Amino acid sequence: MSDVPATPLVKEIPPKAADLSEWYQAVCYKAELVSLAPVRGCVVLRPYGFAMWERLQSALDARFKETGHENAYFPLLIPKTLLAREEQHVAGFAPEVAWVTQGGGETLTEPLAIRPTSEVVIGTMYAQWIQSYRDLPVLINQWVNIVRWEKRTRPFLRTLEFLWQEGHTAHATEDEAAREVQQMLDIYREFSETYAAVPVYAGEKSAAERFAGATHTYSIEALMPDGRALQAGTSHELGQNFAKAYDITFATEDQSVEHAWTTSWGMSWRMLGALIMVHGDDRGLVLPPKMAPLEAVIVPIVRGEGDDVLAAARRVYDTLRAAGLRVKLDDRNLRPGNKFADWEMRGVPLRLELGAKDLAAEVVTFVRRDKEKGADGAKFAVPFADVASRIPHTLSEIQSALFAKARAFLHERTSRVEDRSEFMRLCSERAGMLDIAWCGLAACEAAIKAQTSATTRNTRPLEGGETVCTACGEPARLRAYFAQSY
Ligand SMILES: [Zn+2]
Repeated sequence: MSDVPATPLVKEIPPKAADLSEWYQAVCYKAELVSLAPVRGCVVLRPYGFAMWERLQSALDARFKETGHENAYFPLLIPKTLLAREEQHVAGFAPEVAWVTQGGGETLTEPLAIRPTSEVVIGTMYAQWIQSYRDLPVLINQWVNIVRWEKRTRPFLRTLEFLWQEGHTAHATEDEAAREVQQMLDIYREFSETYAAVPVYAGEKSAAERFAGATHTYSIEALMPDGRALQAGTSHELGQNFAKAYDITFATEDQSVEHAWTTSWGMSWRMLGALIMVHGDDRGLVLPPKMAPLEAVIVPIVRGEGDDVLAAARRVYDTLRAAGLRVKLDDRNLRPGNKFADWEMRGVPLRLELGAKDLAAEVVTFVRRDKEKGADGAKFAVPFADVASRIPHTLSEIQSALFAKARAFLHERTSRVEDRSEFMRLCSERAGMLDIAWCGLAACEAAIKAQTSATTRNTRPLEGGETVCTACGEPARLRAYFAQSY
């Protein structure tokens, strides 16, 4: 055998608070979301992990379609000369591009890039498809894999190959393109908060953090429990840069020829990494119900002759399936305690226990995954007749509780800072989101990064009253969140 990396065998996950990174990787393996692949820096997305990806995919896809977008598919490989046509773009991505130089036993006359993103190939096709203002807007998304040659890798957060969606649109006016970019940013924010229960700050990236070739980049930024920010989605105004590089022109109503205004926007499986870190605990994953492959698991507690209990559990299961719930009956021949631990590790929001005592009282015991054992409301009995109707209500309470908890953490770890030395200290200490009045100057940003490794996450307009940049004393032009990041 060659040196295929072995996925670490996780017996016990370490406590989350002690070392988030170790906890995170252990949970990803132990909950069977991913395995290490036989290729450096890549992971295999296992069925339970893929089911989480499908939750994200179906929710976002529905939102894209509601706003007029269609799905299509473009090739994985991009000819080198084509990639080189937008200079800033190619310069920005060059260090991360993987190249195919051989095929069919021969050296290729032109190397082919494995897509690090698809503006180039999609722009080339748009140039052919768009002739007239009547052809606009073009609103297309694709769900694909991407390759970027990363040095350090971590499941979902950074891997050589990853899954994402990328939307690419072309418009007749700058205004319309700008509205599209804000609309998609808002969809990402809404999805993150209402589905993944991860609160975010939405705003514009600084010039230094902008997507290569864009005129404006906007992002949503979440805060992880270790005080580092995680960029969870981006939306870019590309101006006419790509339209000029790839000849995307159209005849206007009065027959003049103009370049189109294009946009692109993407969210990847990083979002899964964010929600795992934000909600998980020492027992494993804690999944927001809307993102959970299983909303509830039924565990019959059978001691000795348990035929009655099993039969009742099956009836509950059938009722819940008929009600359209994502539910599983765990009738494996294992001790209940082992089953509990298993489903807790996988973060199933609701456990339904049914034992002989429950059966006699005609109730099912509900156990909420998001609450500590023994906490108020963690465990309660529900009469048989009410089980199906109580579940959606309870799931919705869990969804809200997880979001409220994450939002309280974000607010608690967001500091408005006006003093320079305090700001620099908090940056170094990885103290969360640091909200300052900022000059917007690249030199100021570079100096902060060099001294503390914190970067601007995103910016928003001044609120009024701010006069000087907290970091350098130059006139303030924006408010900005600084943080160390993933
Ligand atoms: Zn400054």
